[in-house]
Amino acid sequence: MPVLRTPSPGWDGQGQAGGSPGTHRVLFLDVTLAPRDPQAPGQFGHPVAVPDDKQEEAKSRWKEGNFNVYLSDLIPVDRAIADTRPAGCSEQRVHDDLPTTSIIMCFVDEVWSTLLRSVHSVLSRSPPHLIEELILVDDFSTKEYLKEKLAQYMLRFPKVKILRLKKRHGLIRARLAGAEIAKGAVLTFLDSHVECNVGWLEPLLERVRQSRAKVACPVIEVISDKDMSYMTVDNFQRGIFTWPMNFGWKQIPQEVIEKNKIKETDIIRCPVMAGGLFSIDKKYFFELGMYDPGLDVWGGENMEISFKVWMCGGEIEIVPCSRVGHIFRNDNPYSFPKDRVSTVERNLARVAEVWLDEYKELFYGHAYHLVLKNLDVGDLTQQIQLRKKLQCKSFQWYLENVYPDLDAPLVKASGLLVNIATARCVTVENTTLALETCDVNNKHQQFNYTWLRLIQHRELCVCPASSAGTPGLRRCHGRSRSLHGRSRSLTWLHRSLVTSQPHMTDHIISRHLQPPTCLEADPSHKALRVNACDSANPYQKWRFGNYYAD
Ligand code: UDP
Ligand code: MN
Repeated sequence: MPVLRTPSPGWDGQGQAGGSPGTHRVLFLDVTLAPRDPQAPGQFGHPVAVPDDKQEEAKSRWKEGNFNVYLSDLIPVDRAIADTRPAGCSEQRVHDDLPTTSIIMCFVDEVWSTLLRSVHSVLSRSPPHLIEELILVDDFSTKEYLKEKLAQYMLRFPKVKILRLKKRHGLIRARLAGAEIAKGAVLTFLDSHVECNVGWLEPLLERVRQSRAKVACPVIEVISDKDMSYMTVDNFQRGIFTWPMNFGWKQIPQEVIEKNKIKETDIIRCPVMAGGLFSIDKKYFFELGMYDPGLDVWGGENMEISFKVWMCGGEIEIVPCSRVGHIFRNDNPYSFPKDRVSTVERNLARVAEVWLDEYKELFYGHAYHLVLKNLDVGDLTQQIQLRKKLQCKSFQWYLENVYPDLDAPLVKASGLLVNIATARCVTVENTTLALETCDVNNKHQQFNYTWLRLIQHRELCVCPASSAGTPGLRRCHGRSRSLHGRSRSLTWLHRSLVTSQPHMTDHIISRHLQPPTCLEADPSHKALRVNACDSANPYQKWRFGNYYAD
């Protein structure tokens, strides 16, 4: 049987030919304890098929990790994978004096073979002198094999330490526990179902060496949850978010790539990181206050660290020459203390409250059910103080400088509020409302239709019924805190919010009167009133001067 020889630890480039002093060509290391069997299932990252007579077994084991656990167990824990780095990466040079790193890998009830493959891939494909330690943080796993058996297995790797948490902390606080005991100059966080590719580590550490405020992320490649193949991903992807703070990937447009002559190996600045895999200077991480410890279990922490880094003077980068495979799963295989959705929602609301400034209205506007359910985000004093202490910039600065392509209008509509039938405009007269001839220069005719569904003129909001029984003005009650309680009766539905009645999208509807009631121009032309909604009535149709969102 042919035997696959692993490439010998290459210190090539040490001759400095063509390189600047104090640097070497990035190391190509792929050490295995035994020669690799090229016939082994999944070798080289190839896909594996489940034999016909094992379909049932594979199916039943899927839920152990929400991926093909049966196949994972067949594949060697030290399999080779294709070197997917863009051309040119293997010629890149890095400094000889890179900082050392502690790898922090948290897990809860991770599948045995997958956890081992993650650990092997780190130790096989990283220059040993750069790995201070690999800290496995056991987040109170229940599986028996993760106890003594795991400890025994890891004895062969002196650099592996296992930190056992005494209760379930969740990913976020488990990472913090790992960071607290880490000795390396840099922290490198990894998930427990990854495969690090050749040359993955040095390019990350090179970025942190260049500036301690650079947070470096590898390109996250895909290990198929179905056939366990290792697949590369499209280049030029940035980590971004859409409202209400959903993480996603977005390709840099082709014309931007061409215009700026961006190369496949060029560093990509990211508005937000995916979260699972990154290197960060340890002292810097602590200075930033790590993660908000009030974030629970999983989710939103990538937003928090991303905003914090950018707004407080750092940068988030994707390093194309560093590639790590990750098993993406459709669902988390572990339990949440509360349910997953409400945990993530609460985490995101904390992030919004601390970091988004006035833009948090966009978050709540896109996740309006959070307003309705009167979400309790807990105490934020420390996080707000931290932001002050670090003298972080505004979210507006972040939008302008880091993520200018995000659609983020502060209000849904603004300007005149014109009645269709009369072509007259709502006008503020002292503390009451009237209908007057429209005049774009009249300050008393300027309204905002906000994400929180208020029709706002300065600090006053249009309310369906004043003491006189006609629509009037009331204080809107501060900002988003006022979402709760009283001011909710000030909300109006218009345009896209009237999806249930497509023929009433021009109406302005208050659901707080029973039955729902529409804003109407009194045919006497000078007054406003509310009346039973009637889709055909043009006196109930309105248009704002400008619309910024549907
Ligand atoms: N994890 C943990 N405790 C938790 C939840 C997750 O230690 O309460 C670990 C998990 O085992 C994994 C990492 O944190 O190694 C990230 O979680 P996951 O892979 O589920 O997140 P995803 O990749 O789906 O975003
Ligand atoms: Mn993961």
